[in-house]
Amino acid sequence: MKQKVVVFSQIDATVLDQLERDYHVVVLNPKQGDINEQIRTEVVDADAMIGAGRLLNETNLAPAQKLKIISTVSVGYDNYDVDYLTKNNIWLANTPHVLTETTADLAFTLLVSAARKVPELDQWTKNGEWKRTVGPAQFGQDIFGKTLGIIGLGNIGAAVARRGFYGFNMNILYHNRREKLELAQPLNARYCGLDELLSQSDFVVVAVDLNPESKALMGKAQFEKMQSHAVFVNIARGSVVDEEALVYALQQQQIFAAGLDVYQKEPLQSSPLFSLPNVVTLPHIGSATAETRLKMAKLAHKNLVDALEGRTPQYLVNG
Ligand code: NAP
Repeated sequence: MKQKVVVFSQIDATVLDQLERDYHVVVLNPKQGDINEQIRTEVVDADAMIGAGRLLNETNLAPAQKLKIISTVSVGYDNYDVDYLTKNNIWLANTPHVLTETTADLAFTLLVSAARKVPELDQWTKNGEWKRTVGPAQFGQDIFGKTLGIIGLGNIGAAVARRGFYGFNMNILYHNRREKLELAQPLNARYCGLDELLSQSDFVVVAVDLNPESKALMGKAQFEKMQSHAVFVNIARGSVVDEEALVYALQQQQIFAAGLDVYQKEPLQSSPLFSLPNVVTLPHIGSATAETRLKMAKLAHKNLVDALEGRTPQYLVNG
């Protein structure tokens, strides 16, 4: 009998085809009723699950009898109750590295867009407001040679730092739970405390994973430490930032601008952020290019197949 795989979000069509050839596949569909009920029903005799963007924990996984692996098509795994999975001998595998450069590209896109008011001036031009040469209201911030502060010098944080160092001759500061000499040295990046990073940086990019220590790492007190010309970028997770405090900082022009890919609640349907000209908002697209999403899907597929064929997947969160 074929092993059963539950697909809990949209995944790449070629990977889904392959799964359907090899396994008994059930694809959950939020349009067909409560998704948690569907998970509870289908997980009972499932061997594996694959997908992204759903909260999976005891509430919906408790009926599982023989689940071996959840393969998430993402590097972040804050949606999963890792302790519960470990206690129940369920592997959690993720997809690091293949999305690093693409997500770093997006971080830099947000940095440049916010610093140079790209979406605002695009709209301004299209609205026919370009009637004479631009003035101070349209001026942005210099990037080349400035100080870039990275919060979380992991894979993506380091890739953002490389773009700043090699591409824009930036001076790099970083804050991390521990010093990362190997990543930092080639970039001449200086390790410092969060307060120092915030007060010294012209650009601050958040690239930490979401965990109990990083939750609401950026709040009112932290935004107050930033410089009034500084640009804040978050490509990590929305809950790393107290969004209300960020809105206040932008409204009061305590900081110059922000570029955001992630939010406390997604999808973001309405928000005070929408009425602020000095924020660039994107719909969580850090890794969303066709090539990278395919690489992620293939890696998640490989993690799943390895587990079902008795091998240890290469990228285990709780291995
Ligand atoms: P990673 O290599 O694990 O890097 C995370 C870094 O954050 C590590 O260096 C970690 O330090 C540091 N860190 C964690 N908590 C911290 C804290 N409280 N204070 C300071 N530093 C802290 O992961 P990655 O591949 O770079 O990905 C980072 C995150 O980006 C993912 O977890 C995901 O949430 C997010 N992401 C978003 C998108 C998007 O579409 N916007 C795409 C991909 C990833 P240690 O060395 O001490 O662990």
